[in-house]
Amino acid sequence: MANTPYPESYYAASANAVPPRPTLQDDVETDVCVIGAGYTGLSSALFLLENGFRVTVLEAAKVGFGASGRNGGQIVNSYSRDIDVIERTVGPRQAQLLGQMAFEGGRIIRERVAKYNIQCDLKDGGVFAALSAKQMGHLESQKRLWERFGHTQLELLDERRIREVVACDQYVGGMLDMSGGHIHPLNLALGEAAAVESLGGTIYEQSPAVRIERGANPVVHTPQGKVRAKFIIVAGNAYLGNLVPELAAKSMPCGTQVITTEPLGEELAKSLLPQDYCVEDCNYLLDYYRLTGDKRLIFGGGVVYGARDPANIEAIIRPKMLKAFPQLKDVKIDYAWTGNFLLTLSRLPQVGRLGDNIYYSQGCSGHGVTYTHLAGKVLAEALRGQAERFDAFADLPHYPFPGGQLLRTPFAALGAWYYGLRDKLGF
Ligand SMILES: Cc1cc2nc3c(=O)[nH]c(=O)nc-3n(C[C@H](O)[C@H](O)[C@H](O)COP(=O)(O)OP(=O)(O)OC[C@H]3O[C@@H](n4cnc5c(N)ncnc54)[C@H](O)[C@@H]3O)c2cc1C
Repeated sequence: MANTPYPESYYAASANAVPPRPTLQDDVETDVCVIGAGYTGLSSALFLLENGFRVTVLEAAKVGFGASGRNGGQIVNSYSRDIDVIERTVGPRQAQLLGQMAFEGGRIIRERVAKYNIQCDLKDGGVFAALSAKQMGHLESQKRLWERFGHTQLELLDERRIREVVACDQYVGGMLDMSGGHIHPLNLALGEAAAVESLGGTIYEQSPAVRIERGANPVVHTPQGKVRAKFIIVAGNAYLGNLVPELAAKSMPCGTQVITTEPLGEELAKSLLPQDYCVEDCNYLLDYYRLTGDKRLIFGGGVVYGARDPANIEAIIRPKMLKAFPQLKDVKIDYAWTGNFLLTLSRLPQVGRLGDNIYYSQGCSGHGVTYTHLAGKVLAEALRGQAERFDAFADLPHYPFPGGQLLRTPFAALGAWYYGLRDKLGF
């Protein structure tokens, strides 16, 4: 079988060393078979192992091959949809549960890093930057809202204060979340995979699930083996393809691109982001950036609907970076790559059960570093028979994309064009 390598990213180039992992070539038996070794799969596996389940993880390529090993590394709390929108959709009780969980993912990451001694350049502090008075007003109302759910660590930044944390003169203000922050995402995934193995879990790489035999005793087939399990967790997200047609129908893979500069040196790096916080702006099609451990700038932005790989990533993202930081005009770009996240029509994650024993979580629509860690905990709770928090997610309404799989890309692109125009015109 072909050995799928990581994409040529800064993360792959600076990944911690890991032992080679086997390809599944047998017929094995386990309690839970997890499909996909991104954060959703690894977090589920870890919580399950900590609770006494036997766990086997199947990964089509390598640990962290998907979005979890390619993302901007920003620990952004909450969901890709504002909690008041959620409240209007689902009512106060369910919104209360979801609101209380909105900042839990960041805590889980920190607990994992500390407990399993994961070397992933973890830094505290994330900034939401407002490009207009309207966006600043929105941040103010978000802060009030999050405080209602018990999240009181947020600090509003006026125009003077935001200049102290980011040397970009586009912003009128912002909000600092010290429970946000950033990590080397691939090294976080690799560290979590090592933790899974330290607890007795098995991870097979280059072992795609190609068929699921459903029923009371489900079996997951790979090209050379099979896993018999009591439960299956589907965690393939934007890379799952059509393995589970029900899930493919109501979501859409989208590409987003990231570039990494050459090392900037202490002085220049500090002049851009003196406290080393990560930043994302408040546009619908947002830009996000941060420094790496070795003082490069990682800058991401833009969306390609339908997950086609753009030919020249640097040509798309570099102008955005220079708009924020014209002082980087002579700086070289060392890496550029693309990755896929999974969009849902509501931009809320899809969580649920197919039959009695196949569980899934997917589609956090962009902000997934924290949510996926929470999802692992919530899925593990459900498998242990405590489904209240799982149900709060599972009961969120979801709809297929208009136009089905054929027309969902142009429809979504049209929607994004509209929101992009609103961002540009500032209304
Ligand atoms: C470029 C980029 C930047 C981003 N930046 C941020 C950010 O800064 N902050 C943030 O919060 N979120 C960000 N996100 C989103 C975030 O990375 C994702 O939401 C999150 O990593 C999804 O994790 P996951 O485990 O669900 O999916 P993935 O990490 O994509 O993992 C799915 C895994 O399943 C495997 N798989 C698929 N099908 C099969 C199969 N049939 N059998 C076996 N294995 C299979 C894949 O190979 C893959 O390894 C970004 C996403 C991208 C692409």
